[in-house]
Amino acid sequence: MREIVMKWKIAIIIIGIVILSSITIFLVYPRFMEKDFQSEIEIPLNETFNKYDGVCYGNFFSCEKVEVSEEGDVDTSKIGEYNIKYVFNYNGNIEEKNQVVKVIDNKAPTLDVKVDNFKYCPNGNIPSYEVSAIDDYDGDISGNVKVEADGEKLLFSVSDSSGNETKIFKDAKKIDDESPTITLNGDDKIYLPVDGEYTEQGASASDNCDGDITDKIEIESSLNNKEPGEYEINYKIKDSSGLENNVKRMVYVYKKAEVNENGSKNVYLTFDDGPSAYTSKLLDVLKKYNVKATFFVTSQNTTKGYDDMIKRAYDEGHTIGIHSYTHSYSYIYTSVDNYFEDLTNMQNKIYNLTGYKSMIVRFPGGSSNTISKNYDGGSHIMSNLAKMLTAKGYRYFDWNVLSGDAGETTDTKKIIKNVTSSLKSTSSVVLQHDTKDFSINAVEEIIKYGLENGYNFLPLTMDSPRVEHSINN
Ligand code: ZN
Repeated sequence: MREIVMKWKIAIIIIGIVILSSITIFLVYPRFMEKDFQSEIEIPLNETFNKYDGVCYGNFFSCEKVEVSEEGDVDTSKIGEYNIKYVFNYNGNIEEKNQVVKVIDNKAPTLDVKVDNFKYCPNGNIPSYEVSAIDDYDGDISGNVKVEADGEKLLFSVSDSSGNETKIFKDAKKIDDESPTITLNGDDKIYLPVDGEYTEQGASASDNCDGDITDKIEIESSLNNKEPGEYEINYKIKDSSGLENNVKRMVYVYKKAEVNENGSKNVYLTFDDGPSAYTSKLLDVLKKYNVKATFFVTSQNTTKGYDDMIKRAYDEGHTIGIHSYTHSYSYIYTSVDNYFEDLTNMQNKIYNLTGYKSMIVRFPGGSSNTISKNYDGGSHIMSNLAKMLTAKGYRYFDWNVLSGDAGETTDTKKIIKNVTSSLKSTSSVVLQHDTKDFSINAVEEIIKYGLENGYNFLPLTMDSPRVEHSINN
């Protein structure tokens, strides 16, 4: 019994000695002592990285500062993991430590939605709202903003590339308060001769909630192309919320012009001084309405390459009249010979271009001009020319409706008004110049007015009613 107690005492003494020695060694043995060293640290983006500097060499009772050097860099402007190797050196005693530095983005983006009234469609479609989302690392991420409807609210959310999320809730109404829109293809006014073929050009429709609903358009038409008159084509659209809209297209069915229907609202559109850069556009308009007109042509612009417009006008059924080759008053009104030489030159040119020998004439300045007095030496050339033209089988035409495009105005609206307000109940010969863009731009409205008000548009012919001024020289 005593022996067992003895052994226990010895064991306790030995253990005590070991513990005390260890404590002593721990307290006094010299070594590197690191305070707060972490083998892995996280620092937020753009914050300063402080190198570890908390090591000393010594023991529990005295410890001296140690020189620390390190290898590796940390770029705090870039998210990532950086490895730093520290070397502690105290009088040739060396120790190395590795540290992983994680630069992280822990800031959520800012999110801004600048609208006062939020709403979304009953079918769940959400209108596109103007949003702005800016992240300190990713920059502008407005395009990543997601919107979802949640009962009486809209939830806007956006996440940056590090998964930081920003959410905004906005009170919103589930409502469709916008009617669909509908747009006609082509003109909203169509002019159709009796028996002419109407081509449906259709329309397109879109809706804030339903998107493109063109296929839901219903078309109602009262058109009868056998009877002159005004007809409506009605295009109706209804969206999934029951909101409706409609547009109308007017179709004017007009009686085709009857040539030489003397004395009943015949309009002869005439264009002097061309062809020019605008003649092509004019011919397009005339073609659109199937209207024939008269071109009193010259050669003054044709060096610029518009000769083919004379041929086109002729081929499209218009009358080509002779105005003047040179359009030079000081040449043509100096003598009868000069006048006829100039006239014949233009007549031949028309013939060469079209194969048509024109006998229809308009005097430069009209038959009533007095400018010829400046050049004819008192010979009353206009009286002579008028008689001679007629004797040679030509017909000349003046005008009885002035557009005002020869100096009075350059305003297209004024030209439309001048012409439409001066049309006669019998025959109207309208003077315009296809060398003037502002005048050509009036032609479509003049034609529309005429067709809507029962006028016939005709080209001049040798049999057309005489419209001649009284001669002043
Ligand atoms: Zn002229």
